[in-house]
Amino acid sequence: MSKILDGKLIRQRILDSLKPRVEALTKSHRAPGLAVVLVGHDPGSEVYVRNKIKACAELGIHSEKITPPESVTTAELLAIVDGLNNNPEIDGILVQMPLPKQVDSRAVLEAVAADKDADGFHPTNVGHLVADRPGPRACTPAGVMELLRQYDIQVAGKNAVVVGRSDIVGKPMALMLLHANATVTICHSRTSNLAEVCRSADILVAAIGRAAYIRREFIKPGAVVIDVGMNRVPDPSAASGTRLIGDVAPVAMAEFSSYYTPVPGGVGPLTIAMLMSNTVALAERRLLS
Ligand code: NDP
Repeated sequence: MSKILDGKLIRQRILDSLKPRVEALTKSHRAPGLAVVLVGHDPGSEVYVRNKIKACAELGIHSEKITPPESVTTAELLAIVDGLNNNPEIDGILVQMPLPKQVDSRAVLEAVAADKDADGFHPTNVGHLVADRPGPRACTPAGVMELLRQYDIQVAGKNAVVVGRSDIVGKPMALMLLHANATVTICHSRTSNLAEVCRSADILVAAIGRAAYIRREFIKPGAVVIDVGMNRVPDPSAASGTRLIGDVAPVAMAEFSSYYTPVPGGVGPLTIAMLMSNTVALAERRLLS
């Protein structure tokens, strides 16, 4: 019988564990501070940013939203980031992706001070991840690791297959599983025999951005299946006209896995919780050390 890994439950546990740390910092120094830079009016990004700011308010984290127009230049964004790097009230900076075409996204992400990098995307922090040294970690894969930990799912010695090799999900996910002593295989769009490779997984992580692409023939019976995918597909029966679907066919997960993350309500809720966790840890490092 397959069990659900409940992301909402673990999200709340993470937030509850952060509350006393935020209170202690606020009492001894000041509230931790997170700055979010949101360029333009992409509706998806606006929702994400609203939820991030809401989570800050829930925890007592000070948040600032900076909203440059869609026409912003790289130089203007670099100046905004520089201001935040030098702002003593701010511990974490997040630049919401994607940025408009005219902006050099890499230059902007690299301009965020490594010790204020709430997303864990700065090359210095990627280096810390590779070397398994402390530092802010990419939030989505860090959330997956926390989910596995909270459900006591053994990772050491298991075969883990990560489908997807992006800088924000697939690669850091594979490294985190490796550091937890899994034997890790990374797959991508050029992988031969994807279904067969996936079937070797005790822990299968799908992060490809293709609705229900991973089907039953990809899943070893009893595997733990983590579905990172968030794909909006048309659904005339839904009030919004769309529905959220993961990268794994829901029936296949429910029938074949031992544990699985539903979409929505699995990995999604953890990403913001881990962003809060990174922000609090950055504030502690800044204020207490
Ligand atoms: P990217 O588009 O950056 O990367 C997708 C990866 O999947 C690439 O490495 C690509 O391979 C690989 N891929 C695409 N198609 C296939 C295929 N048919 N077979 C095998 N591999 C394939 O996506 P992200 O990593 O940013 O996101 C992945 C998914 O996770 C998306 O649905 C996204 O919405 C979701 N997501 C969810 C989050 C959450 O909080 N739950 C947070 C971030 C993302 P190649 O490199 O060869 O092109």
